[in-house]
Amino acid sequence: MMYITEECINCSACNDECDNNAIYNAGDNYVLNDETLAALSNDFSYIVPELCDNCKSCVEVCAVDAIVEK
Ligand code: SF4
Ligand code: SF4
Repeated sequence: MMYITEECINCSACNDECDNNAIYNAGDNYVLNDETLAALSNDFSYIVPELCDNCKSCVEVCAVDAIVEK
Protein backbone atom coordinates (compact mmCIF):
# COMPACT_ATOMS: atom_id res chain seq x y z
CA MET A 1 0.00 0.00 0.00
CA MET A 2 1.27 3.46 -0.91
CA TYR A 3 1.04 6.39 1.46
CA ILE A 4 2.30 9.96 1.74
CA THR A 5 4.57 10.92 4.63
CA GLU A 6 4.95 14.19 6.51
CA GLU A 7 7.79 15.07 4.11
CA CYS A 8 5.09 16.17 1.66
CA ILE A 9 5.24 19.86 0.75
CA ASN A 10 1.74 19.87 -0.80
CA CYS A 11 2.95 20.69 -4.31
CA SER A 12 0.12 18.60 -5.91
CA ALA A 13 2.46 17.24 -8.62
CA CYS A 14 1.41 13.68 -7.83
CA ASN A 15 -2.33 14.32 -8.24
CA ASP A 16 -2.16 14.62 -12.02
CA GLU A 17 -0.03 11.50 -12.25
CA CYS A 18 -2.65 9.21 -10.73
CA ASP A 19 -4.97 7.63 -13.31
CA ASN A 20 -7.20 6.37 -10.50
CA ASN A 21 -7.70 9.80 -8.92
CA ALA A 22 -6.57 8.26 -5.64
CA ILE A 23 -4.60 11.30 -4.47
CA TYR A 24 -6.28 14.23 -2.79
CA ASN A 25 -5.01 17.51 -1.42
CA ALA A 26 -4.83 18.03 2.34
CA GLY A 27 -8.21 18.81 3.80
CA ASP A 28 -10.17 17.92 0.67
CA ASN A 29 -12.97 15.41 1.07
CA TYR A 30 -12.74 12.32 -1.14
CA VAL A 31 -15.32 10.30 -3.03
CA LEU A 32 -15.64 6.52 -2.76
CA ASN A 33 -18.58 4.53 -4.15
CA ASP A 34 -20.49 7.77 -4.76
CA GLU A 35 -20.10 8.68 -1.12
CA THR A 36 -18.27 11.82 -0.02
CA LEU A 37 -15.98 11.15 2.93
CA ALA A 38 -13.87 13.33 5.20
CA ALA A 39 -10.23 13.99 4.32
CA LEU A 40 -7.77 11.37 5.58
CA SER A 41 -5.23 14.14 6.26
CA ASN A 42 -5.53 17.85 6.90
CA ASP A 43 -1.78 18.42 6.78
CA PHE A 44 -0.44 16.59 3.72
CA SER A 45 -1.75 15.25 0.44
CA TYR A 46 -3.07 11.75 0.95
CA ILE A 47 -3.80 8.55 -0.96
CA VAL A 48 -7.11 6.74 -0.63
CA PRO A 49 -6.07 3.10 -0.12
CA GLU A 50 -9.22 1.68 -1.74
CA LEU A 51 -8.53 3.61 -4.96
CA CYS A 52 -4.79 2.96 -5.26
CA ASP A 53 -3.56 0.03 -7.37
CA ASN A 54 0.11 0.41 -6.35
CA CYS A 55 1.24 1.43 -9.85
CA LYS A 56 3.79 3.81 -8.31
CA SER A 57 3.53 6.44 -11.09
CA CYS A 58 3.19 9.07 -8.40
CA VAL A 59 6.44 8.11 -6.69
CA GLU A 60 8.53 9.28 -9.63
CA VAL A 61 7.18 12.83 -9.67
CA CYS A 62 7.60 13.55 -5.98
CA ALA A 63 10.65 15.78 -5.54
CA VAL A 64 10.92 15.11 -1.83
CA ASP A 65 10.35 11.33 -1.90
CA ALA A 66 7.29 11.61 0.30
CA ILE A 67 5.40 8.73 -1.33
CA VAL A 68 6.40 5.39 0.09
CA GLU A 69 5.13 1.84 0.38
CA LYS A 70 4.28 0.27 3.68
S1 SF4 B 1 0.54 4.26 -6.78
FE1 SF4 B 1 -0.57 4.67 -8.70
S2 SF4 B 1 -2.73 4.38 -8.18
FE2 SF4 B 1 -1.62 4.61 -6.25
S3 SF4 B 1 -1.75 6.77 -5.77
FE3 SF4 B 1 0.17 6.47 -6.89
S4 SF4 B 1 -0.35 6.88 -9.06
FE4 SF4 B 1 -2.28 6.56 -7.92
S1 SF4 C 1 3.50 13.71 -2.15
FE1 SF4 C 1 5.18 14.72 -3.21
S2 SF4 C 1 4.38 15.20 -5.27
FE2 SF4 C 1 2.64 14.74 -3.95
S3 SF4 C 1 1.95 16.74 -3.16
FE3 SF4 C 1 3.37 15.88 -1.64
S4 SF4 C 1 5.37 16.72 -2.19
FE4 SF4 C 1 4.04 17.00 -3.98
